[in-house]
Amino acid sequence: MAADSSTLYARAKEVIPGGVNSPIRACLSVESEPLFMASAKGSTITSVEGDTYIDFVQSWGPMLLGHAHPAVTEAAQKACAAGASFGAPCPAELELAELVIDALPSMDMVRMVNSGTEATMTALRLARGYTKRDKVIKFEGCYHGHADAFLAAAGSGYADLCIPGTPGVPADTVKDTLLAPYNNLDRVKALFELHPEDIAAIIVEPTAGNMGLVPPAEGFLEGLRTLCDQYGALLIFDEVITGFRLSYGGAQSRFNITPDLTTLGKIIGGGFPVGAYAGKREYMQHIAPCGTVFQAGTLSGNPVAMATGIATLNILKNADYAALEQRTAAFATELLGILKGKGVPVTLNTMASMFTIFFTETPVTDFATAKTANPKLYTAFYKQMRAQGIYLASLGFEAAMVSFAHTDEDFARALDAARKVQF
Ligand SMILES: *Cc1c(COP(=O)(O)O)cnc(C)c1O
Repeated sequence: MAADSSTLYARAKEVIPGGVNSPIRACLSVESEPLFMASAKGSTITSVEGDTYIDFVQSWGPMLLGHAHPAVTEAAQKACAAGASFGAPCPAELELAELVIDALPSMDMVRMVNSGTEATMTALRLARGYTKRDKVIKFEGCYHGHADAFLAAAGSGYADLCIPGTPGVPADTVKDTLLAPYNNLDRVKALFELHPEDIAAIIVEPTAGNMGLVPPAEGFLEGLRTLCDQYGALLIFDEVITGFRLSYGGAQSRFNITPDLTTLGKIIGGGFPVGAYAGKREYMQHIAPCGTVFQAGTLSGNPVAMATGIATLNILKNADYAALEQRTAAFATELLGILKGKGVPVTLNTMASMFTIFFTETPVTDFATAKTANPKLYTAFYKQMRAQGIYLASLGFEAAMVSFAHTDEDFARALDAARKVQF
C-alpha cells in the first residue's frame, strides 16, 4: 500500500530522530512537513504521492547533470553487477583520481573518502600533522561538515538550528577553532598577529554556499593566500560544493588561486557517497601508509561510487558551463524582478549555476548580513512555490542549484509560480 508523505513522516519520527537522516530535510524552518520522494529524473523530483516538482535543490548539489542521467545510471548498474565492494584497490579508483587531478590545478595526489565531512576532517588533520600546529581559522556561516572542530558558527542546517556550539563537542575540541567573518581580511590578519606560530590552516568555502550564496570579495582569496604564505599556514579550499560547479576546475580555476589542500564531495560522486581531499605531493605523502597521518575507510574508493563519479566527470568535462551560468543568471534576475515588484525587500547573489534570493535590502557579503534576511518571507515563498510544484531549499540560508537538465520551460514555470506568490 502506498503511503502519503505525512503518514510516512509520522512513522519515521518514531524510529529515526526527527524522522530524517539529515536535519535540514525535516523542513522545520519553513514550518512544513517533508515530502517523501519516490523518484527523480533530470530537473524534476516526484514524491510518493506521485506529484512531480521542478527541483532547485538537486540533492543539495551533487546532481549537476540532473537526476538519473542515463550514462551515470548505466555506470552504476554495470559496476554494481561486477561486485559492490572489494576492500582492495580497483582500476576505477585510479581513473577517478587521474580525472580529478587533471581537472584541478593545485593537486598531485588525491585520497577518496565517503563524504565531505570525512574530507574536511582529514584535511584539517593533515594540515595539523604537517605544520605541527593546532589552530585553524574558519569563517562564520561557512559549513565544512559535522566534524567537531568545525561546529563553531557553522552554516547550512546547523545555522538553522542556531545551536551556539553543539552539546557533545567538548570545549577543548573547538578551543583551537578561530572564527572570522567571511570576506574580512583584517580580522584574519589580526588572528595571525595574535597567534603567529600556532595556526595550522585556514579553511574556507572559496564561494560560500551554506549561508546562502556569498561570493568572495575582490582580493579576499588572494589575501588569504598571502597571509598563509607569510605565516606558514596551509590554505584549505573546501570545494565540496564549488568543485566541478563554479567551473570544471572548481573555484581555484575560476579565481586562479592555488590552495595547499582541497576538499571535494557532492558532484564527484555523481549522487553516490564520495568525498576526497587532495593537494601537492609534499603534503599528501604524509598520509598513511606512506606517511604517519592516519586515515582509512572500509568503503572508501567504492567501485560503484567511483564509476558514477567517472561517468559524471567525463560528461562535465565537455559541458557548456558558460551557457548554464548565463541561463541561471537570467532566470534569477527575472525572479528578483518579480519579487521586487511585490514590494518585499530582496537581494540576489548568483554565481555559476547557483543563486540565493535573500529577503533583505542589505547587500549580503557575510553571515551577519545574510541573517538580516526575513525568514517569514522565505517561508511564505517556499510554501507557495511548493504548492505550485516548485521545490526549493527548505532553508533561506542555502543556494538554489540549477542543473544542466533544467529547461527554459522549467524556468518559465518557476517564474509563473513566483508571479502568483502573495506576501
Ligand atoms: C555539504 C558540504 C560539506 C559536507 O559534506 P557531506 O558529504 O554532507 O558530509 C562540507 N563542506 C561543504 C562546503 C559542503 O557544502
